[in-house]
Amino acid sequence: MSAAAPRRPLVAANWKMNHLRADAEAFCRRLLAADSPYGREAVAPAVDAVLFPSFPLLPAVAAGLASSAAGSALTWGGQDLHPAAAGAHTGDVSGAQLADAGCTWALVGHSERRHDHGEADELVAAKITAALASGLQPVLCLGESGDERRAGLTREVLDRQLDAALAVLPRDAAGFAVAYEPVWAIGTGETATPDVCQQAHVHLRRRVAAQRDEETAARLRILYGGSVKPGNAGELFAAADVDGFLVGGASLDADSFLAIIRACA
Ligand code: PEP
Repeated sequence: MSAAAPRRPLVAANWKMNHLRADAEAFCRRLLAADSPYGREAVAPAVDAVLFPSFPLLPAVAAGLASSAAGSALTWGGQDLHPAAAGAHTGDVSGAQLADAGCTWALVGHSERRHDHGEADELVAAKITAALASGLQPVLCLGESGDERRAGLTREVLDRQLDAALAVLPRDAAGFAVAYEPVWAIGTGETATPDVCQQAHVHLRRRVAAQRDEETAARLRILYGGSVKPGNAGELFAAADVDGFLVGGASLDADSFLAIIRACA
């Protein structure tokens, strides 16, 4: 369905609760090395890259990437945010605090948040609103569990999760992206086939076209996430509606992350 609109590939690293400051610093040094598309001499990288470190590592990432010449092609964001602008929410982080740390993105609705913290679609939607209010681009993570897929509920689950977000998303929201992350593929080594990805991505794009308009749907970047590695990124990216990846485990190593980026260039 996708050929009409050129979409810049986007590859995001979700470090989850991994890495210490020295690891983040070394990762950034590698990303800025001379042979990297994001180095000090970078000229218009073809792929947008985003790092999602845990909150304490944001200053190290901001400092580590400061001398990149890649501009908006290399950015970073928060793995989560609270829906409130400020206040008595111990342990949480606001959109304004993320923006103040140089973030331009926020992940919302990751399946580990939905599972570990019982986050429901309404809360995820409120986080999207909060992200946009702070000038952050939300990446909405959605996807079915293994049981839901086996029960034939994949489309129903995707529709429910997507619709909750579209209900709060302003028509002029810039930079909103979606990551299709089937729960059965996250951290399991069991990657969705290019065909499974393509079907889900086309379904999501059609849903956006139906609820909004064709142009918004054609512009929307839909990432795939779930055991993406350098060895399978190329064939997955060849699927017409896969616009990049949200990468967990394989993003912890800078060379592996760069190899996945190269597969999208
Ligand atoms: C993720 O956590 O978003 C993810 C896709 O993890 P992994 O690549 O390890 O499956």
